[in-house]
Amino acid sequence: MSVFESLVDQEETIAILKSAVVAAKQNEDESQDMTHAWLFTGPPGSGRSNAALAFAASLVCKDSGCNNCVDCTTALKGAHADVELIKTEGLSIKIDEIRELITRASWTPAVAEYRVVVIEDADRLTESAANALLKAIEEPGLRTVWLLCAPTLSDVLPTIRSRTRNLILRTPSIKAVVQLLQNEQIQPATAELAARASQGHIGRARFLANNPEARTRRTDILKLPLTITDIASAFKCAQLLVDAAKREAEAEAEKRNDVETSALKEAWGQQGSRVVQGGAKAVKELEKEQKSRQTRMVRDYLDRALLDIATFYRDTLLLQSGTHGQDSLINSDMFRELQIIAGNTKAEDTLRKLEAIMKTRTNLSHNAAPLLTIEAMMVQLR
Ligand SMILES: [Zn+2]
Repeated sequence: MSVFESLVDQEETIAILKSAVVAAKQNEDESQDMTHAWLFTGPPGSGRSNAALAFAASLVCKDSGCNNCVDCTTALKGAHADVELIKTEGLSIKIDEIRELITRASWTPAVAEYRVVVIEDADRLTESAANALLKAIEEPGLRTVWLLCAPTLSDVLPTIRSRTRNLILRTPSIKAVVQLLQNEQIQPATAELAARASQGHIGRARFLANNPEARTRRTDILKLPLTITDIASAFKCAQLLVDAAKREAEAEAEKRNDVETSALKEAWGQQGSRVVQGGAKAVKELEKEQKSRQTRMVRDYLDRALLDIATFYRDTLLLQSGTHGQDSLINSDMFRELQIIAGNTKAEDTLRKLEAIMKTRTNLSHNAAPLLTIEAMMVQLR
């Protein structure tokens, strides 16, 4: 089995990466198949960072990515001596971090033929960080390979993407995701529901398939707009949604923060509540990072909820067009509710609501205040 087999529905990308690995191992300079900087783009959940890590593993594995050896297993986790995985849970990657990274990247490989750096969220590089990175990519070390990941090409500075080979992952088909979930022992009906509801987002599909509570929460969110009758209920709806987002983020954050903070304190040799000076600073920085992550988690949750709600209106619109049946619906489990809404409203209103949701997503991504933004949207969903 190869490391690339974990990628779902990405045959073209896999073929390109495999030829690159062959060229890299043969040190064929004439072949154009291998290059030192790559950009993996694709919608969230399509597996762009998995693809990058699989490529990294196959470059450091003596067997071109056997998926079995220590090189492969550690590389896939970003724990290999010659594979560095940069991911941020905060809102941005700063220049200091990139400068240190560039220094480390220039070292000779420790055990493998290449040093591979995977930057999971290249879209979160600050402009100065991106410019620093650009210099490194322009003058690459002979044995260093840069793998950047971002949702779309336009999320990365033009100067960077003009110097990388760009690979576009596609959204895995629903059929492929259903198959994947069934291989993981999920019941066919649940696999179908999870795959449809998550529209090719593999992580989300897995999560839904394995969590009955998450499936219930999703249905509750989808039904929210049905409860809006006037301005007051629209505001109530907005409050419910934002509260749910905050609760979810808090619960998740609490779990992770405690683990991280105690690990850090332990590393600094804390006794009781006394922390050595440098340790106090490190703890403070970690707390700042954790706060920024929590803000991002609230936004991510809201964005997902809005996408779910948008699929509800998308389905309504399909039914209103009169040419589609239950089969083409994302939320086929809500066929009855959708039929009623489709019968009671006009297609142009549905379209207007869809546009309102999409505009709200854009506003949220530009850091608009969540509650105000969602309130304005809910009023339009009346
Ligand atoms: Zn291997």
